Amino acid sequence: MENFNPADKIQDLQYFGEFGGVNPSISDSSTYTFLSAKTMFDTFEGNAEGCYLYSRHSSPMNLYLSKALAAMEGTESANVSASGMGAITPVIMQLCNAGDEIVSSRTIYGGTYAFMKNMLPNWNIKTHFVDITKPELVEKAINKNTKILYCETVSNPLLEVADIKLLANIAKKHNLKLVVDNTFSPLTVAPAKLGADVVIHSLTKFINGSSDTVGGVVCASQDFINDLKNVNNGAMMLFGATMDSLRSASILKNLRTLHIRMKQHSYNAMYLAEKFENDGLKVVYPGLKSHPSHDVITKMMNKEYGYGGMMTLDVGNLDKANQLMELMQNRNLGYLAVSLGFYKTLFSAPGTSTSSEIPIEEQKEMGLSDGLIRFSIGLDNDIERTYQMMKKCMQELNIF
Ligand code: PLP
Repeated sequence: MENFNPADKIQDLQYFGEFGGVNPSISDSSTYTFLSAKTMFDTFEGNAEGCYLYSRHSSPMNLYLSKALAAMEGTESANVSASGMGAITPVIMQLCNAGDEIVSSRTIYGGTYAFMKNMLPNWNIKTHFVDITKPELVEKAINKNTKILYCETVSNPLLEVADIKLLANIAKKHNLKLVVDNTFSPLTVAPAKLGADVVIHSLTKFINGSSDTVGGVVCASQDFINDLKNVNNGAMMLFGATMDSLRSASILKNLRTLHIRMKQHSYNAMYLAEKFENDGLKVVYPGLKSHPSHDVITKMMNKEYGYGGMMTLDVGNLDKANQLMELMQNRNLGYLAVSLGFYKTLFSAPGTSTSSEIPIEEQKEMGLSDGLIRFSIGLDNDIERTYQMMKKCMQELNIF
């Protein structure tokens, strides 16, 4: 990713408010007036650049935020949505018709998995779930009906890493769209720069970073974003999961500090991962040399943002995992909560929470054990102090 620094791209955008404000003005309106009926028609048809009609179509603040996220991912365009799922589901529905197929990584966010596994068959769209780190299995699952190759750069919850360049080559060869959910690795990896066609984020996580809202975005070519927003057959437009302007304003403000936060999340997670690994615990973190795809992510990443804030620890069984999480919360080391990317460390046992949509046998097959705790490491100022306190909790529970 030489010469592409996503944080600089965000910084280079200069927005002013209506009265010279340092933040762009929020247009607190769902509908817009026109001086001429003809312009209204042209706007509806998408032929009146700069005119707004109705805020499900677009609104000034949503366009500001979308533009900043497109700059961050290095795509021509982007469109924000009311949640991450509100970005994922329309992309899939836009790209697939009845009879089409998807080849997807088997370790993906539980909601995405549930949508592909349980809902898409209602429209006769079939998904093949594969180990995305094995290109030969990916190729084997592709057939003449395949339209999408789907993965997460760093997967939820197992932190498997997809080799985006390699997958982009496979996608190109078979004329598929490579759709990448980059929620776990904003700034660290820029999938579109490595050949992905569509990049999705749940803004709910690191990008917003304050656990006060859900949100999503699709970053892609102008043509694809236009397709998604088409008033006659655009899935984002017609499914209607539009972000509210007040929220896009607050997310844009939080985006301004993403680079600083990511560096601290990464620093803290690397610190804890190394310490716990040295202590003999079963830690998975892409920054550790022991991670099976350490070299793959190192090759793809923008090094200054580090290996991200997500880490897993296997403490053996669910009882131990639950006891540890409760104790850590009592000691104010973090919250027993799903989601990620907060200033405070968040932890949950994915097998019984965010990945519970995945049947137990399949969880086992993909290596999701019930003693696994997923950590989103926070922005703690003194991470050695945090480490000592976490270690004490583990010692009290005889984890080591
Ligand atoms: N993608 C990933 C990797 C996630 O972890 C999540 C939520 O946990 C989503 C997508 C869905 O995002 P949202 O909850 O904003 O709809």
